Amino acid sequence: MTALVLRGCQVVTMDAGRAEYASGYIAIDGNRIAAVAAGQVPDDLADGRVIDASGCVATPGLVNTHHHLYQWATRGRAVDSTLFQWLTELYPVWARIDERIVLDAATAALAWLARTGCTTSTDHHYVFPRGAGDVLGATVAAARDVGLRFHPTRGSMDLGASSGGLPPDEVVEDIDSILAATEKAISSFHDPEPGSMLRMGVAPCSPFSVTGELMRAAAGLARDRGVRLHTHIAETADESDFCAERFGCTPVEYLESLGWLADDVWLAHAVHLDDAGIARLAATGTGVAHCPSSNARLGAGICRTADLLVAGVPVGLGVDGAASNEESSLLGEAREAVLMARAIGGPQALTVRQSLELATLGGARLIGRADEIGSLEAGKLADIALWRLDGLAHADIADPVAALVLGARPPLELLIVNGETVVERDEVVTVDERHAAAAAVRAASTLREKPWAACRQPGGTACSAEFRHSRSNSVFAMLEVRLRPRRTAGW
Ligand SMILES: [Zn+2]
Repeated sequence: MTALVLRGCQVVTMDAGRAEYASGYIAIDGNRIAAVAAGQVPDDLADGRVIDASGCVATPGLVNTHHHLYQWATRGRAVDSTLFQWLTELYPVWARIDERIVLDAATAALAWLARTGCTTSTDHHYVFPRGAGDVLGATVAAARDVGLRFHPTRGSMDLGASSGGLPPDEVVEDIDSILAATEKAISSFHDPEPGSMLRMGVAPCSPFSVTGELMRAAAGLARDRGVRLHTHIAETADESDFCAERFGCTPVEYLESLGWLADDVWLAHAVHLDDAGIARLAATGTGVAHCPSSNARLGAGICRTADLLVAGVPVGLGVDGAASNEESSLLGEAREAVLMARAIGGPQALTVRQSLELATLGGARLIGRADEIGSLEAGKLADIALWRLDGLAHADIADPVAALVLGARPPLELLIVNGETVVERDEVVTVDERHAAAAAVRAASTLREKPWAACRQPGGTACSAEFRHSRSNSVFAMLEVRLRPRRTAGW
């Protein structure tokens, strides 16, 4: 017996033949898809709940491959800044997060992500203030409450300003504590079984906030435990300069020297790549989480998506943290990916179907789940987005995929994750949206009012902007003359 059947909708399957049906059905049995086909629902599948989905298009649920959920509570700050300026304004704010703030921020962030068609999200959490409680556990609790499939990563920073890194010393941890906490997170949360709703990853933050020693140790730990690796790389020209001056190589060469180019690794951004770097990513099967809105918001440049795909690099999409992408719409990233690729590469640089593929199957591949999610096929997990296209914005449009990728974001009629309804008629049904919004307001205002108790200079003076900029022996010393608009795009 099938539990649920969606009938009479357009279907974009993303299966091996990229089949699309002008009118078809999807039958769901438990947490898996029982059948997908064109035409009428056969009698033997029509014994469960049947939903008339006419006027809608069904796609695989979208897969978000890069996020920082806690940042939902710090949106709208440093709005005209470069990455390094934005980070140095926000690090002291993030140093005040705690378990409650992260729970409320993550619940709101995930609920909103669900509204934009996302059924599986990763998270990269790398700020662990002392005495803040179980902030990683708070993101796990939020994902369970909202009902999304979740791939959190235990992030980390161990290169503080006094050692030449970008973050203040107060927000970095020592390497032994990081590795112990990462082991514990994997033991506590990781579920390797088929159909898993949660798989952990390991994710030191970036070249300018993490030592090479930690990168190597983290890779060893992840491979011992059979989980995937994630980090930020090649996001800005400033980072390329940092790697050239500190390591004498490009960011990709640096990663390769640390054992970080492999098919169990996916990298956020990868904006500033040369041809040799793209070739190394392709040869090693290393994936890229393309975050077009965040890159544009921070003026970091435009990822060479078309070149990555031609070379055979696995590519998915990410909204990145809401503090650098206030919209946080995963369907919106599919639109931005097309527009950015075409802005630098012409109208054939990325097709609308390629972009939807990045948002679905491409993302599933990055996180090692392409055998279970990312397409609508019998036997795969029932992660489905059903978009309404019969309203004013889309009713007459010729191509449903163009409607999704180039048009206004359509109402989300239904979002199903693991066979369960998460969004119905553009409203999250697993958590109360108004309560989630009120809790997010509380989290953001708590952060505004909370003193940065952890960061006191000798003599008890609280940290200030002047204090941050006065640090010597840090990446600031190198960048002091660069805190102004400079190269705006790499290509
Ligand atoms: Zn990020």
